[in-house]
Amino acid sequence: MQALAIMLAGPEGANQLLKPEILNKKQVEWQSGLNKAISEYQNDNSPANRKKLDVAFCKYNHKQVKDSLKIMFSGKCAYCESHITHIGFGHIEHFRPKSKFPELCFEWDNLLLGCEICNGKYKGDKFPESNEGGPFIN
Ligand SMILES: [Zn+2]
Repeated sequence: MQALAIMLAGPEGANQLLKPEILNKKQVEWQSGLNKAISEYQNDNSPANRKKLDVAFCKYNHKQVKDSLKIMFSGKCAYCESHITHIGFGHIEHFRPKSKFPELCFEWDNLLLGCEICNGKYKGDKFPESNEGGPFIN
């Protein structure tokens, strides 16, 4: 039934259909918590504030978010298309890295499913902008 709804809605509609409920409920709250943690860390970069910042950044890592991405990407890595869910859990990947674009940390359209190798070894937080020699492919 979901597949039929996706076919009828088209790719952009499908993306919104699969947006997990938790993001609709919590995105604003999580973003304001992250913004607060960033500004506290900028004022005082103590280990305690670093920990708070890490916790605020990681709110996106929710089962509902990953489950929706697994459906949307058919269990495959967005970069290499390996079937990740056969051998691992898959990573929630930020297309625009959260370290450079914290305002997109919880933005559904910025989230992908990635394998450990692509996300960890190759992509990481790289996202070269035009003033940094980017884009990767032109
Ligand atoms: Zn991959």
